[in-house]
Amino acid sequence: MIKLEKIKEERKKNKWTFLLKNSDEVFANTIRRLIIEEVPTLAVEELEIKENSSALYDEMLALRLGLTPIKTDLKSYELKEKCKCGGAGCAQCELKITLKASKKGYVYAEDAVSADPHCVFVYPKMILVKLLSKQKVDVTMTAVLGRGKDHAKWAPGLPFYHREPIIKVTGPVADPEKVVQSCPKGIFGIKGKSVEVIKDKLPDCHECQQCTDLDKNITFEESGNFIFTIESWGQLTCKEILNQSIGILIDKIEELEKSI
Ligand SMILES: [Zn+2]
Repeated sequence: MIKLEKIKEERKKNKWTFLLKNSDEVFANTIRRLIIEEVPTLAVEELEIKENSSALYDEMLALRLGLTPIKTDLKSYELKEKCKCGGAGCAQCELKITLKASKKGYVYAEDAVSADPHCVFVYPKMILVKLLSKQKVDVTMTAVLGRGKDHAKWAPGLPFYHREPIIKVTGPVADPEKVVQSCPKGIFGIKGKSVEVIKDKLPDCHECQQCTDLDKNITFEESGNFIFTIESWGQLTCKEILNQSIGILIDKIEELEKSI
């Protein structure tokens, strides 16, 4: 049975690392692709620019706003094609956000006003545009749920994985100091006259294998497990991203079963 074990959770970085056990590359890659392509998030899709006298062209401002991550509540919103309104646009498939600013200086993401207080721009201090005196922006945006396969702005984050490394020190090491310094990820520590592997740092190993080149008493192998990392752009939590991708996989399997 497939097992997940949490290795590290870095809340500030919206990053989750876990060990995927009893699985294979096909499964790991399926989850990776489902996260990038299928897990939906909110992003600005249409906008009406009533006024924009800033130095940014309308299309550049539009592009910036499209790429600004929006906190996404998947329970309250539905993909347009699945919405009861039939895609005409209603409160369940569209979110209105307005941005009005006329003060000299930077206009931040926090200056935008969302119709749904749960779904606002994720990073308040993200700079949207800079205004000089007498310049103005007045924009009404419509955000919708979408998928990364249609546009990267809807991708919820960056998932990646690699095989779990097993590094062992099997005997005396000739130059411990050199081995410690050779590792760019700081995986080794000095222990007496030899080196030891710092277990907590091991998941960071990117398998450059400089340590094994330096000393034949350091061995490198790969276990059959995967170290899987999800880095969220902020619209969803890492847990939501993973749960969603699994849910989508189950839906796809059921669909396939029905069509056989
Ligand atoms: Zn609708």
